[in-house]
Amino acid sequence: LRLDADVATLSGVFDEIAQGALHCRFRDCRHQGEPGCAVREQVAPERLRNFHKMARELQRDAMSALQRKEQRQQWKSRHRAVHARDRDKRGDGP
Ligand SMILES: [Zn+2]
Repeated sequence: LRLDADVATLSGVFDEIAQGALHCRFRDCRHQGEPGCAVREQVAPERLRNFHKMARELQRDAMSALQRKEQRQQWKSRHRAVHARDRDKRGDGP
């Protein structure tokens, strides 16, 4: 999946953040003010800002891909529902 590759690239480019994250108190630390965050202690603030910006963009890409998929599924199930109603109508006919 493209997103996985992007995330791998992100943690490759921001290697010191990935390394620092190992020492954060929380495993799911987002390095945005959590107590015991090792990344915020080690990484320059503007670098961390860049990291968050890229992470947000990746997330937005993933979200819109997911939303597109959900929309397709919704449309499909609506389509199916209409067909089912047509069948019922025909069954009730004289
Ligand atoms: Zn952290």
